[in-house]
Amino acid sequence: MDCIFCKIATREIPATVVYEDDHVIAFEDIQKVAPIHTLVVPKMHLTSIIELPYDNTALLTSIQKAILHITKTTGVDQSGFRVITNSGTSAGQTVFHLHYHIIGGRDLQVSLG
Ligand code: AMP
Ligand code: ZN
Repeated sequence: MDCIFCKIATREIPATVVYEDDHVIAFEDIQKVAPIHTLVVPKMHLTSIIELPYDNTALLTSIQKAILHITKTTGVDQSGFRVITNSGTSAGQTVFHLHYHIIGGRDLQVSLG
């Protein structure tokens, strides 16, 4: 499958990886919209959050662990941050492999859309 995030997960394409475990990889977004802009990405290919089964507790746990690790190590756990996952074209999803944006390090606009 020609998927850029699958290729980052298998290290075929380089990225600035900041965290990894058996189920997820996290790396810096290539086009940061804020000083902290990291993507948490499952290693398995899921198109978006609607393909993530609620009983995949191993993956869900890894996603939460990654978010806690990244927010703590960058300090945005104290200052504030946003976690965003886009699903589908109307939401602006451009990479069709599930990912969670962690955005912070500046005051964010109070807007959800
Ligand atoms: P979305 O619009 O939610 O699908 O977000 C996709 C994100 O992936 C964008 O913020 C892009 O800047 C980011 N992105 C695309 N290609 C790469 C890449 N090779 N390395 C890191 N981030 C990427
Ligand atoms: Zn993929």
